Amino acid sequence: MTTTFDTEPRQLFIGGQWREAADGARMDVIDPSTGQVITTVAEAAAGDVDAAVRAAREAFDSGPWPRTSGRERGRVLHRVAELIRANADEIAALESLDVGKPISLCGAVDVTNAANDYEYYACLAQSQDGATRETPLNAFAYTRREPLGVVAAITPFNFPLVLAGSKLAPALAAGNTVVHKPAEDTPLSALYMARLLTEAGVPEGVVNVVTGTGPVAGEALLRNPGIDKVAFTGSTAVGRHVASVAGEALRTVMMELGGNAAHIVFEDADLEKAVGAIIKAFVFNTGQFCMAGPRLLVARPVHDTLVGILAEAVAQVTVGDPRDPGTVVGPMAGEKHLKKAEDYVELARKEGAGVVVGGERLDLGGGYYYRPTVITGLSNDSRVVQEEIFGPVLTVQPFDSEDEAVALANSTPYGLASGIQTTDLARAHRVAERLQAGIVWINDWAMLDPAVPFGGVKDSGFGREYGPEALAAYSKVKSVVVSLD
Ligand code: NAD
Repeated sequence: MTTTFDTEPRQLFIGGQWREAADGARMDVIDPSTGQVITTVAEAAAGDVDAAVRAAREAFDSGPWPRTSGRERGRVLHRVAELIRANADEIAALESLDVGKPISLCGAVDVTNAANDYEYYACLAQSQDGATRETPLNAFAYTRREPLGVVAAITPFNFPLVLAGSKLAPALAAGNTVVHKPAEDTPLSALYMARLLTEAGVPEGVVNVVTGTGPVAGEALLRNPGIDKVAFTGSTAVGRHVASVAGEALRTVMMELGGNAAHIVFEDADLEKAVGAIIKAFVFNTGQFCMAGPRLLVARPVHDTLVGILAEAVAQVTVGDPRDPGTVVGPMAGEKHLKKAEDYVELARKEGAGVVVGGERLDLGGGYYYRPTVITGLSNDSRVVQEEIFGPVLTVQPFDSEDEAVALANSTPYGLASGIQTTDLARAHRVAERLQAGIVWINDWAMLDPAVPFGGVKDSGFGREYGPEALAAYSKVKSVVVSLD
């Protein structure tokens, strides 16, 4: 599909202007379904990032956005949601082309969620209330909620549109200005959104987009003294570095990091129903999904039956061209991502595990396709179980008691998401309480909404996106105490 984006410059968006990087550098963007270069975008150097932060700083310190009422900011954000919906097909096509996501999922999931994010925070934009406080002082004491300032938003390759929306929508609702650095692999929707945000009425300098690499543009953004908050989504390894630099500079941070969720199936589960959730949890977005459920823990009495059902069902999942509306699983986003998944499966084989289904590349004449893979017989301390694979690979382990299921689920360094399949209501709540995770799904997977906070514990990070919690995290509290003497 040809999009209006085909005619756009794919430059840096700084202070309301499109411009090339000062040194003219550009970087390739690859179509994961073919491995071919589809376009290039400007590649920001440190000086370009500094210019973007200066523009955001000026828009915050003397521009209208932080001084506009929450209600008016909400009106603008409502228009953003409307524009996303009005351009849904084009945005879905762009995201599919850039990330390799199946086109049907781009529309139903990515575009829908991005619009919902802006709509939700448009509604909350005027809810930034302070409070009055009773004190023994002869004074009138109250609090105000004020925006933080310039937000550095750094996002990963796997959900470019949604994860930008989950930061920009609350940050803008609260009255901040933003410099967004999208992932180098998938920068296109960030540039498209810069145009849409402007069309919706976001003033110049309020949103700036710098495309570039992590070590150069990301690092320069992170270290710029003009920023007030770093909102980071990405791997635990990079997040650890980002948090340490931001900590040294005493900047507020929000860290959405890696995951390796357990999906627990108890013997009382509805297995036919559970199987859909299990497959969704590990193949959605080709497993490149922070909240994926790649560790299946199954009560021993139903283990073999469930593995049998899964083997058949997973073999039938349609892997193919993301532009085909019938495709459920597209390619991985690049060769390095595919190789990583492949290496983990090879390691599992070396450790004597059984590959029940999948376990190989799929040759479609180019692109980065890997068959959804189910592995049994690994020990819990295997790296294949403990580490984040970030591909369409499921490991299955049996357990003999509720305590053992909880212990296995909590045994990795991660704590982003978790899931339980059971028909026993008391068990569902009891186990949910014991799981070390920011979100627990019961009898389904990845039920997400901007009203529901999302984020991690342990090595999956800290801070929450979504909900009123995220809006509060993009503001600071000021106390005002007025003497009544
Ligand atoms: P990554 O950590 O490699 O990159 C994330 C972003 O950080 C990119 O924009 C990158 O350019 C930038 N970056 C890299 N080095 C940097 C540096 N030195 N300074 C500043 N920025 C730098 O992650 P990725 O491979 O793009 O994404 C996959 C990871 O993201 C997985 O671990 C996944 O679990 C995680 N993720 C987490 C969530 C969540 O909500 N918790 C959501 C999606 C993805």
